[in-house]
Amino acid sequence: MDDCIFCRIARGEVGADIIDERPNAIAFRDVNPQAPVHVLIVPKQHIPQLKDLGPDRCEVLGDIFSLANDVAVSEGIGQTGYRIVCNIGEEAGQEVDHLHFHLLGGRFMKWPPG
Ligand code: 5GP
Ligand code: ZN
Repeated sequence: MDDCIFCRIARGEVGADIIDERPNAIAFRDVNPQAPVHVLIVPKQHIPQLKDLGPDRCEVLGDIFSLANDVAVSEGIGQTGYRIVCNIGEEAGQEVDHLHFHLLGGRFMKWPPG
């Protein structure tokens, strides 16, 4: 996707505070953080939503969650706790149509989410 913002960040065409990456995923800080730690974990390939990730692409989810684990530790929230959120579709508040997981931590979280 030529004009997708997360594809452009993954290709290095748009700047972002990149923390780490895997062959199939990249982690960078959210531009509008909602917690002291707010990192987006994103597949490098353009995948709009979770439903578009078929069983033949399980390695993408493996890279996403192993990256999330390592980022949580490197950001110092691996022991205190954190939340991983994936907004899917309009009612969940998905604004960017490129699959992404929010890694949030560094403060107490409320439940249920708003
Ligand atoms: P969504 O609401 O789709 O689940 O989350 C999209 C997230 O992407 C938002 O938290 C928003 O702040 C973040 N975001 C949108 N555009 C950019 C950008 O250009 N750079 C970075 N680093 N984050 C972005
Ligand atoms: Zn994209």
